[in-house]
Amino acid sequence: MTKETIQDIHVEKAASTRINEVDFNNLTFGSVFTDHMFECDFKDGEWKNPTVKPYQPLTLDPSARVFHYGQAVFEGMKAYRDDNDETWLFRPDENFNRINKSCARLAMPEFPESYFFDGLKTLLDLDKDWIKKGFGNSLYIRPFVIATQSGVMASPANAYKFIIICSPAQSYYGGEVRVKIADHYSRAASGGFGYAKAAGNYAGQFYPTNLAKEEGFQQVIWTDANTHEYLEEAGTMNIFFRINDKLVTCPISDCILDGVTRKSVIDMAKDMGIEVEVRPIKVKEVIEAAENDSLKEIFGSGTAAVITPILGFGYKGDKWELPKLDSPYASQIKNKIMEIQYNKAEDKFGWRYKL
Ligand SMILES: *Cc1c(COP(=O)(O)O)cnc(C)c1O
Repeated sequence: MTKETIQDIHVEKAASTRINEVDFNNLTFGSVFTDHMFECDFKDGEWKNPTVKPYQPLTLDPSARVFHYGQAVFEGMKAYRDDNDETWLFRPDENFNRINKSCARLAMPEFPESYFFDGLKTLLDLDKDWIKKGFGNSLYIRPFVIATQSGVMASPANAYKFIIICSPAQSYYGGEVRVKIADHYSRAASGGFGYAKAAGNYAGQFYPTNLAKEEGFQQVIWTDANTHEYLEEAGTMNIFFRINDKLVTCPISDCILDGVTRKSVIDMAKDMGIEVEVRPIKVKEVIEAAENDSLKEIFGSGTAAVITPILGFGYKGDKWELPKLDSPYASQIKNKIMEIQYNKAEDKFGWRYKL
């Protein structure tokens, strides 16, 4: 893949590295950050000042719009290192396109491909020692855009920052996950911005998710806001149901985040000869399948863990457990996708991107 490049990234190197203070065998997801960050500004109608500099706090006016009206969007992607020390990204074009879609929905400026890719490349070149070898190790990359203009007038800002920070990650095990199917609260409404990776979509989920935690669930599976009859997605993952030997997942809509992992799971499953149906799926159908033992698996898909198996679910006070399988689709598909991410298998889909 060739990209237009920018030559003028200002690079300010950290005086020393913090890498020796980090225990790479005991990482808590998203809590330690690399030595550098990428930052650029939107001002006077254009993106400018692309800079890689030491990871450091931001200084913003307290009236900066992001604090008041929530113009904030982000992405989540990973870099992987193979056994020959080459660095790979996984379908980064998808993340670039998606952050621009998210920006457009929140009336924020889109930005040039070169800033995204050259910024990332310059940053990861400097911080490449933070990307550890080994199946499961990776560098989690968090690009985000915030409104920086000061003043509390309720209108879109005219100044923004685009920043990329990176955090080393180990193979992500989210613990045992049981989910509550939402019957009252909603994550996204038709015509809203559920499809955008916007900070506000997360803020609105925390309270109902806390209530679900009190009932012994770790996450919520959201249902459509109008009827609560159709399953949509989990808070940070898209969701798949295996009924007998068929995988079912709901179609993308303006309420659902179009996950890169979701797309990859669909393509990979089909390639493995698994039948996949993308169609609306009712809570009622899943409960009936659980009752007659045709529901074999539920799993979530997302960049952090690739695939998270779900052990059980609850709905309106009742609970169901899923069977324990010897070779679930969840682990078969996860492994196949990871082999592509880590350059251990042929990539017939063209998903790997060499940095
Ligand atoms: C990020 C995210 C996902 C997963 O998307 P991936 O591109 O697969 O990481 C799913 N749902 C929501 C709400 C998300 O924010």
